[in-house]
Amino acid sequence: MRMTQPRQPATVAVNAGRPSQPGDPLNQPITPVSTYLAGGDSHYHRDATMPEHAFETVLGALEGGTALAVSSGQAAAGVIFDMLHVGAVVVAPLASYSGIQARLDELDFTGRIRLRKVDTADSAALATACEGAQLLWLETPSNPLMEVTDIATAAEIAHGAGALVSVDNTFATPILQRPLESGADFVIHSATKYLGGHSDLLLGAIVASDEDYVADFRSRRAQYGATCGALELFLAARGIRTLAIRMERHQSNAQALLDRLAAHRNVEKVRYPGFSGVISIDVRGGADAAERVCAATQLWFHATSLGSVESTLERRRRWAAESPIVPEGLIRLSVGIEDVDDLWNDLAQALDHA
Ligand SMILES: *Cc1c(COP(=O)(O)O)cnc(C)c1O
Repeated sequence: MRMTQPRQPATVAVNAGRPSQPGDPLNQPITPVSTYLAGGDSHYHRDATMPEHAFETVLGALEGGTALAVSSGQAAAGVIFDMLHVGAVVVAPLASYSGIQARLDELDFTGRIRLRKVDTADSAALATACEGAQLLWLETPSNPLMEVTDIATAAEIAHGAGALVSVDNTFATPILQRPLESGADFVIHSATKYLGGHSDLLLGAIVASDEDYVADFRSRRAQYGATCGALELFLAARGIRTLAIRMERHQSNAQALLDRLAAHRNVEKVRYPGFSGVISIDVRGGADAAERVCAATQLWFHATSLGSVESTLERRRRWAAESPIVPEGLIRLSVGIEDVDDLWNDLAQALDHA
């Protein structure tokens, strides 16, 4: 194909991963399969020979690397951790997605790795923690405190110490942030969230630009058994087509709620990194008050997860695995694409119940 101007993310999201042969379907069909006729490139669906899917092509194009789809965001982290050598030092944030924190804690507890938790936005502390490390794990903005780490700065520090850098880009998506361009080695996604965008699938992805690592992760994906289903891939490819326009709306809705939230008498603190569609608030009155708010919404769904078209909220400390540094009264709001005044009216009446 003739090269023209580099295309903008909103265009790439719609156009990458399309067929080129006359008569091909515009959308990759759903092919439920476990095995293939002998003699070709594909043999068994768990294998590394699994044909590349439109979802991988479009996500890779958006992030600027090669994407591998895996069965969940949690599996994406698992496949990367599987590459660590025994006893490797891993540097991770003080608070980040609880499922991955739990996995890191478990690997540390069993002696598989040595975990150092640090405020990843504190350059001096990060430099000390990265000495002798094999991997720096970043999540920015971080779940659920919404803290931001400058990826380029952190990557420079980590690389200076000989460590690899992996960024969980679930909250920002490649529409708002492209970690590989800032020097990260790997990106992971819970495609369950914004990439899919409709609360109808569980899927993850790893993106890397170094083809040796891509080959390594591809083989570990098969060994780990983190292969994904045909329907999930199809739905995620369909979801990602509207990612740019959804992120625009998630973000503008979130930004329109900030001042109103901050002005409410039962909101102690609003946590928002300046971009994306997730806001955390500290409710005055702690756990019980926050639970009353979650129970009182009529439009916002009281449910875990985030990044879907519908607005959801939950008190994060209701989960035992959530970091103890997260306040008991913190509610994470995943702002959907509904009318923002409807969203505010419902939140305002629910907050009155705190
Ligand atoms: C949900 C989430 C994950 C885990 O992804 P699953 O698809 O649920 O396994 C990882 N990281 C972040 C930031 C998440 O929000």
